[in-house]
Amino acid sequence: MPRPLTATIHLDSMQHNLQRARACAPLARIWAVVKANAYGHGLERGMRGFAGADGLALVETENALRLRELGWSKPILLLEGFFDPSDLPLLAEHDIGTAVHNIEQVKMLEYTQLYRPIDVHLKMNTGMNRLGFRPDEYAAAYQRLRAIPGVRNITHMTHFANADELEHPRLTIAEQVRRFQFGAGGLPGERSLSNSGGVLHAAELGGLLSNDWVRPGIMLYGGTPGGRPAADYGLLPTMTLRSEVIGIQHIEAGDTVGYGSRFEADAPMTVGVVACGYADGYPRHAPHGTPVLVDGVRTTLVGRVSMDMMTVDLTPVPNARVGSKALLWGDGLPIDEVAQAAGTIGYELMCALAPRVRVQEG
Ligand code: PLP
Repeated sequence: MPRPLTATIHLDSMQHNLQRARACAPLARIWAVVKANAYGHGLERGMRGFAGADGLALVETENALRLRELGWSKPILLLEGFFDPSDLPLLAEHDIGTAVHNIEQVKMLEYTQLYRPIDVHLKMNTGMNRLGFRPDEYAAAYQRLRAIPGVRNITHMTHFANADELEHPRLTIAEQVRRFQFGAGGLPGERSLSNSGGVLHAAELGGLLSNDWVRPGIMLYGGTPGGRPAADYGLLPTMTLRSEVIGIQHIEAGDTVGYGSRFEADAPMTVGVVACGYADGYPRHAPHGTPVLVDGVRTTLVGRVSMDMMTVDLTPVPNARVGSKALLWGDGLPIDEVAQAAGTIGYELMCALAPRVRVQEG
């Protein structure tokens, strides 16, 4: 028998969440973001779960090619662009679109003769200060790209730093949109601004956001970028991580648990050992108090997470035994809640799911 740790991927929930994105942004086409192995769900499952999307967006060229091999015939977009001119003929051959965010990429396109032109998302840095041309240099980059025979459609693109918080004290969506309009306002071409935060807040933002293409990631996997719980938006979890209790210890007041003896019992208690550790992707820094469900009853982590195991307080589950079911996140325990307790984000937990974890669909 294999170890009892399993991640279940819910393809029907992926489809459902895609429909939620459509309902939030009914006028836009959707790039379903499947980078990082579809946020840990598996690239091929991402392709099947989001079969109804208008395109798939990711960052790994080899995975873009894999999507074509797997039979994805709709648009594909490389969100970080290409890294070497030798990638360009491959993009042309497989009709893979690319972000262009720096002048080196513009030059590579100028010097490479392509037998078939490719689509480009020209990226503007409107305050995220990660990738993209500044608003005041954007039009010049656009004009240079427009003159390249190897470039077909140019879509104007930017990325929000704080789409989960409408009134961010440092940089608001409204300010980023203002800069975007300044840089790209008069230029022809489609527009792509919103990630999940922008999509989820489309109603509140009203006419401020006009997207021809939106680029949701986390909401399609049943998480949110922050703010209200995913369930409030009608999103369903797409990854459920389950294991079992594989050992039980009855300890006395003053006994400690695990490496570093960080947890000390202040009364006699029962501790359950669950088969899941940081080598499976569970965050090692998750503190005492992080929620876990045992046989459907909510309890918490005690002691440090180790490589293959974690320890949980079985006080609220007196009938727990070896073989009791443990739910670590997903259907019944929102991943965002576990992430918040562990001081991280749902994105990181999903992406960190280790290759050794058995994955099933259901
Ligand atoms: N667009 C770009 C350019 C991104 O880098 C990302 C992810 O970081 C997304 C869209 C999707 O973001 P989210 O998962 O917050 O929806």
